Amino acid sequence: MLHNYTFLMGLHLYAATTSQGKLRDFRTAAQAYSVRIDGLPRIEEIAAPEENGATFEANAMAKAVYYSRYVPGALVLADDSGLEVDALSGAPGVRSARFAADAGLVDSPDANDNTDVWNNMLLLQRLAGVPAPLRTARYRCVLACARGGALYQTAEGSVEGMILEAPRGTGGFGYDPLFYLPQLDRTMAEIDLETKLMLSHRGRAIAALLPMLDK
Ligand code: IMP
Repeated sequence: MLHNYTFLMGLHLYAATTSQGKLRDFRTAAQAYSVRIDGLPRIEEIAAPEENGATFEANAMAKAVYYSRYVPGALVLADDSGLEVDALSGAPGVRSARFAADAGLVDSPDANDNTDVWNNMLLLQRLAGVPAPLRTARYRCVLACARGGALYQTAEGSVEGMILEAPRGTGGFGYDPLFYLPQLDRTMAEIDLETKLMLSHRGRAIAALLPMLDK
C-alpha cells in the first residue's frame, strides 16, 4: 500500500540520546519520511535522569518529558529498548544494559568496555539446558515524543528471534551475536546496517511513530 507522508515534510525532532549509533539509526529511518532528527543540543551537559522504570514505556516517557523541558517548543524523542527472553519470563527486559551489572559481574554498564561480553555470557548461562525451540526472544523498542514537558505520542516496534547457544558474527552491538533471525538464517550481528534498520525494533518503532506526528 502506498502512503503519502508529505504532511511530515520539514518536521524536526531532537533525539535525547548520547549514543551515536542510535542517533544514526533514528536519522536514517526518518529520512524516508523527510523528517530531520538531530541530537539534543548539549545533552552531555544535562544531568541524565534515573532510568528505573518497570517498563520500557515508563523509561521512554520519563526521558522524553524530562529532556523536552530543555528545548522549549521543540519535539523531543526518547527511547528505551532491550531484549525479552521467554524462557526467562521476559528478562533481561528493562535491565538489558545492566544485566551483568545487576548480577554483580561488572561494576556498572558504563564502567566496563566488556559489558556486552559479560551480558551475553550471563544470558548463555541462564539459558543453559534450554532446548532450541524454547529459546524464543524479541527485541523491543518504545519511543516517546514530548514537547515542553508534556507527553505527545508513544510508539513501539519489536522483532522476534531465537537465542543461539554460541555467538555468531561481528557486527551490531549488545546481544546481537546471540540474536538469531530464523527468516534470514543470520544473527543480528551478521546482517548489514540497512537490513537491520528495516526489520529492527528501532526502525519499526520510528516507522510507527512518525506518521502519528504533525507540525
Ligand atoms: P538502552 O535502550 O540504551 O537502555 O539499551 C538497552 C540495552 O538493550 C542495550 O545496552 C543492549 O544491551 C540491548 N539492546 C537494545 N537494542 C539492541 C540492539 O539493537 N542490539 C543489541 N542489543 C540491544
